[in-house]
Amino acid sequence: MKAKEKSVGLEIEDVKKRAKNGVDVSVVIPVFNEQENIERLSSRLLKTMDATKKKYEVLFVDDGSSDKTPKMLRDLFAKRSDVIRVITFNGNYGQYVAILAGFERVRGDVVVTLDADLQNLPEEIPNLLKKMDEGYDLVGGYRAKRRDNFFRTYVSKIVNFIRAKSTGIQMRDHGCMLRAYKKFIIDEVVKTKETSTFITALAQKFAGNPIDIPVTHEERAAGGSKYNLYKLIRITFDLLTGFSLVPLQVFTIVGMAISSASGIYFFVELFKKVIGGHHGYGLHFAFVFLLLSVLILGVGLLGEYLGRAYFAVCEHPRFVIREILEEKE
Ligand code: UDP
Ligand code: MG
Repeated sequence: MKAKEKSVGLEIEDVKKRAKNGVDVSVVIPVFNEQENIERLSSRLLKTMDATKKKYEVLFVDDGSSDKTPKMLRDLFAKRSDVIRVITFNGNYGQYVAILAGFERVRGDVVVTLDADLQNLPEEIPNLLKKMDEGYDLVGGYRAKRRDNFFRTYVSKIVNFIRAKSTGIQMRDHGCMLRAYKKFIIDEVVKTKETSTFITALAQKFAGNPIDIPVTHEERAAGGSKYNLYKLIRITFDLLTGFSLVPLQVFTIVGMAISSASGIYFFVELFKKVIGGHHGYGLHFAFVFLLLSVLILGVGLLGEYLGRAYFAVCEHPRFVIREILEEKE
């Protein structure tokens, strides 16, 4: 009996020791064809993190790059396997899926996300960590002065506005990826098995004591944005349908309003025809087109929800990992 107690005691000691030697900070970075940035990013990031004196790890998630990125990451791992971990997908699944894959494997008490293109400065990570030490459980960066082209900035403003209105989630800039989270928030995000791309907004829901701080935003160091119009539209739809049924409800209400208006319109036309013998079809066509467009939009929205349900039921893997480079824990 005594021996058993002792062994239990030892186990607890072991756990404590491990926690003491555990990782303080995990930095998760999704990368897709970033060969021009990997070197600069890693040297600046590692320098910054080494200076914090914290125990850290950097998880690169290669989202199916077809340039020299995979090789560069492998070389980087060979050089600094004490802090570098590399997860390689077998294809391109998107920035947020890559981050999720990283989240599933982080070991740190605090998890930081960062883009690979140096638009956010790795040197600012210690500012976020300082805020975490003050007791916040989520520190979100917002891009005080955004340095993207007009189109990208504008779309992002609209998306932030829609997110705020439709989800009621209070945060300044869900698109800014320089953010820090307490591990329990990341665990919750991973548990949801979410397929939606809006991890930042999702995580915000789980935070008890979040804060937004301004961060620098620079122009992309090299290469072009990995987002095109199609990807931007996709994530906006994801955002809309991922968090609420509001779009569906708005659609129903608009549909009802339009039906009522068209009912009145119909009677007016009927009245004109019966009393005045009125002719001409221009308005009629415009009206039919309008109705059709609303209908198509509605079908699209329904499709979004159905698609989600479909993938949830089928349990499709969200991503497939081809290779993981890491030292054993
Ligand atoms: N990214 C990714 N998969 C993609 C698109 C982007 O992993 O399909 C990564 C990319 O390498 C970068 C980050 O996500 O580290 C943000 O991408 P980008 O800078 O192109 O987006 P933007 O700054 O234009 O929003
Ligand atoms: Mg960028």
